[in-house]
Amino acid sequence: MTEPRIYLSPPHVTDVERKLLLEAFDSNWVAPVGPDLNAFEAACAELVGVRHAVALSSGTAALHLALIAAGVRRGDTVLVPSFTFAASANAVMYLGARPVFLDSTPESWNVDPQLVADELRDRAGRGQLPRAVVTVDMYGQCADYQPILEACDRYGVPLIEDAAEALGATYRGRAAGSFGLAGVLSFNGNKIATTGGGGMLVTDDGSVAQQVRHLATQAREPVAHYEHRTVGYNYRLSNLLAAVGRGQMQRLPAMIEARRITAEHYRAALGDLPGIAFIPVASYGVPNRWLTCLLVDAGKLGASRDQILAALEKENIEARPTWKPMHLQPAYRDCVVRGGAVAADLFHRGLCLPSGSALTGHDRDRVVTAVRSVAAGQRG
Ligand SMILES: *Cc1c(COP(=O)(O)O)cnc(C)c1O
Repeated sequence: MTEPRIYLSPPHVTDVERKLLLEAFDSNWVAPVGPDLNAFEAACAELVGVRHAVALSSGTAALHLALIAAGVRRGDTVLVPSFTFAASANAVMYLGARPVFLDSTPESWNVDPQLVADELRDRAGRGQLPRAVVTVDMYGQCADYQPILEACDRYGVPLIEDAAEALGATYRGRAAGSFGLAGVLSFNGNKIATTGGGGMLVTDDGSVAQQVRHLATQAREPVAHYEHRTVGYNYRLSNLLAAVGRGQMQRLPAMIEARRITAEHYRAALGDLPGIAFIPVASYGVPNRWLTCLLVDAGKLGASRDQILAALEKENIEARPTWKPMHLQPAYRDCVVRGGAVAADLFHRGLCLPSGSALTGHDRDRVVTAVRSVAAGQRG
């Protein structure tokens, strides 16, 4: 009999969330407004260490409104890491602006801070500064903010932090999401904490929070009739989903700890294999361990990344290649890229292992056995 499927990063909800959800339902705050929304926002603002949080229907919606708040308009340029999920770049396109893609550093798989500085310097020289810089905290590990913020401050370009994968991570003791003009969180079903679909914009800037709240509720003016001075969006999160989010925030420390244990287990159980290199952990911070990823050197291991993926699938285990860089995506074929070889290599050799916080010891053993058997099988 085949064993049950192991998913990459499934939702992990319990009686804590169930109780809060049913209480919200019974309260009749079944609307994109209500006490659970306020409490969920307060919990996120507190964790990130900023004054304001606005709950939205997705991380992508939060990115869209963050870019508007940063002043991005049609024809503008925005620097975006190439190695990311498409949403980071899509939000730029929604505004008729163009992303310029930057390569990653192998030290953290995040955007290379030197490339951010070089691109800003070159563009300043041509009088073509980008309207904003987007950073992404990849797989739950912060980008290197000290040099990135130095470069952004030098040229007066606002930073938007896509911390969709990094809730609960820190950089030099400061929380992911707190580094830019605005930070973006995601509560999609595959993230470290979920509302079944949702997002959050976090910021210290009261006027940004006010503008985003206004735009997210159809830009309706505070008068009795429906008055609109600008075009708005319907981007607020439901109060029911915020109730689930409140429970997830209570359980976040335990869920991060579970993912950390899984990450360390994989390192201990697979780290001796030749040709396997886990995602590096930079000394500047503490990642949330959203996904445990590794690079495969097929020559040394005697098996390729895709052979490992196939062996895992055969055991009914879901794993995935790492993100396909934006500069290699057909949708972004016409965009400028600075570098790109690092991101391409991370994609061609990278593998994400099942990392959910409800993963059991038995699940981990199944993953490890499948990976080890393909390595041994190919060599023997
Ligand atoms: C998940 C994710 C998003 C989008 O979040 P949604 O809530 O799914 O819209 C944006 N950026 C990155 C890097 C992500 O991983």
